Amino acid sequence: MEIEKLLKDKGNLKPLPDENNLGFGIHFTDHMFKMDYSEDQGWHGPRIMPYGDFHLDPAAVVLHYGQAIFEGLKAYKGRDQKIRLFRPRENAKRLNRSAWRMCMPEMDEDKFIQAIKELVKVEARWVPSLKGTSLYIRPFIIASEPFLGVRPAKEYIFSIILTPVGAYYSEGFNPVKIFVTDKFVRAAKGGVGEAKTAGNYAASLMASEEAKKLGFTQVLWLDAAQRKYVEEVGTMNIFFLIDDTLVTPALSGSILPGITRDSVLALARKWGIRAEERPISIDEVLESAESGRLKECFGTGTAAVISPVGSLYYKGKSFEVNGGKTGELAQRLFDEITGIQYGDREDPFGWIEFVE
Ligand SMILES: *Cc1c(COP(=O)(O)O)cnc(C)c1O
Repeated sequence: MEIEKLLKDKGNLKPLPDENNLGFGIHFTDHMFKMDYSEDQGWHGPRIMPYGDFHLDPAAVVLHYGQAIFEGLKAYKGRDQKIRLFRPRENAKRLNRSAWRMCMPEMDEDKFIQAIKELVKVEARWVPSLKGTSLYIRPFIIASEPFLGVRPAKEYIFSIILTPVGAYYSEGFNPVKIFVTDKFVRAAKGGVGEAKTAGNYAASLMASEEAKKLGFTQVLWLDAAQRKYVEEVGTMNIFFLIDDTLVTPALSGSILPGITRDSVLALARKWGIRAEERPISIDEVLESAESGRLKECFGTGTAAVISPVGSLYYKGKSFEVNGGKTGELAQRLFDEITGIQYGDREDPFGWIEFVE
């Protein structure tokens, strides 16, 4: 794929934000990637251009019927100054699975990775180098065809934007307090829970706002049919260490297949830890917490990598996990995965791709 490059003059580039104070998703880089889709031309016109507004007709399908999907991954600068991506092909595959589910056009995996690499290369000065910082990459597809009617759109925009993000744990791990909701659900089997599609996040806001008002960091979701089985925590996958077995809910159709989730399973198995993907009920989790068998609980996702859970609140009762402290396994997984991402540790699975 030949990507046209419409670059800003050197003198017009934005000043870089302070690496000590990046936050998440606040600053955007100088350029973005954009490509269009039409029924007769397919994906066409790939270009890297100055970051800026899209022209979107008020009747664009995405604004009314929500055909929108996205991905999230990061570029990491190592001590050797090389820029690394973590398993980008998995993001390409998942974008295509989301596209399929939402009746949107799929995309060639190699072109997806090429677009990311060329854009990150253009924006290399934006990849921060302070420990724990990275350049967050947000590829997304929206339906741009102006048409009011419920059928798949015939025109789309694929774009990639970049935002430098701060260290998630600049002051070390801080285990979170989780509210288990049996009032709201995130997704039902047969629905779109396994697609990274915009509406899932709109649908989750009410529950997480309620939880925050009560002083909790995030919501733990239960299955829609019975409100019995654990699904995810906020926008992360969830793991439990019960006795010496690591347990995570199986990918049942309503759970987002996280790349961090898959990486945690691969590492645990490599280390000889028994790791099970199976249905796990909230009762089993809380009983194991009460009997002292629940040694650890943590969420997994690209943004935080590992997010230790310090307590679970369910039906008016609080259950502490590991004395509210970060567990050994959570710490080991965090150190190993970030070590691979920043090039400080060996990459036995070939997860890293370089931007050069
Ligand atoms: C993106 C996401 C995850 C985590 O996926 P990663 O690939 O590990 O970043 C988990 N759950 C939801 C709902 C998500 O949107």
